[in-house]
Amino acid sequence: HIVVLGSANMDLVAYAGRLPGPGETVTGRDFRTAPGGKGANQAVAAVRAGAEVSMIGAVGSDPYGSALRASLESAGVDTDLLRTVEGPSGTAHVTVDDEGRNTIVVVPGANGTVESLLPGDDTLIATADALLLQLELPLSAVVEGAQAARRHGVRTVLTPAPAVPLPPELLGATDLLVPNQHEAAALTGIADPHGAAEALLRQVPQTVITLGAAGSLHAARGAEPVMVPAPEVDAVDTTAAGDTFTGVLAVALAEGRPVRDALAWASSAAALSVQRLGAAPAMPYRKEIDAL
Ligand code: ADP
Repeated sequence: HIVVLGSANMDLVAYAGRLPGPGETVTGRDFRTAPGGKGANQAVAAVRAGAEVSMIGAVGSDPYGSALRASLESAGVDTDLLRTVEGPSGTAHVTVDDEGRNTIVVVPGANGTVESLLPGDDTLIATADALLLQLELPLSAVVEGAQAARRHGVRTVLTPAPAVPLPPELLGATDLLVPNQHEAAALTGIADPHGAAEALLRQVPQTVITLGAAGSLHAARGAEPVMVPAPEVDAVDTTAAGDTFTGVLAVALAEGRPVRDALAWASSAAALSVQRLGAAPAMPYRKEIDAL
């Protein structure tokens, strides 16, 4: 049983020939909405990989809120503790130009109201095999969640995104830190992944730094670091590759698989997801991951 304490956003994506400058209006050619947010993405990745998954967080009282809840439920995620709060849902306002460059404004909306846990949240976390955390909710709730998990002996997996300085009480309650290369560099000031991993191990017992097409680097205290190559594939859309990787990794670890197997499985899942368009819709099912 995996519990995700995290964000749900509606992505509002406009496609235009070029990105508008300040004060400028450009005419776009396409528009799509898609459920996203790191928390919801990791929840869907984990449920497709075969785990029982519950999501703690908040959506707004607007139509996006019901759509976000419905999309999690139809994926099979338990949303009993996903609150609906008065006001707008979290949204990500994305503009993409013909070269694939983008600008993104994320408005936390309902996510920003999750400042602390409710009593039911603590009870649910206590039953989990792993708690997945990211930084798209207020830091106070993330810290409280990690500390609750620690108190109940539940493994915590933290995605430090968006990158902000991490308070020691959060690092102290983190079992596995999964930054991408940029986040690892931002956290440590060290660009080289091996150096960054070494620095991170002073603060957490175990880390996996994801390196895009180059794979991932696993490091744990008292063990030799291991580079896990990514399968070579034709990537068409790497949105949420990291969330797929982390959600699936957590499932494998919760099933008690050795770390190397878990990493290979997560790499297969992420490689499948980058070959398809979109975030959640691109995430593979357990059978597909096993087949690869
Ligand atoms: P994020 O999406 O958070 O920026 P990464 O870009 O590091 O994270 O990607 C996460 C994982 O997804 C990688 O460790 C790798 O396993 C997989 N992945 C990402 N891009 C590719 C790619 N082009 N080919 C194969 N696997 C990929």
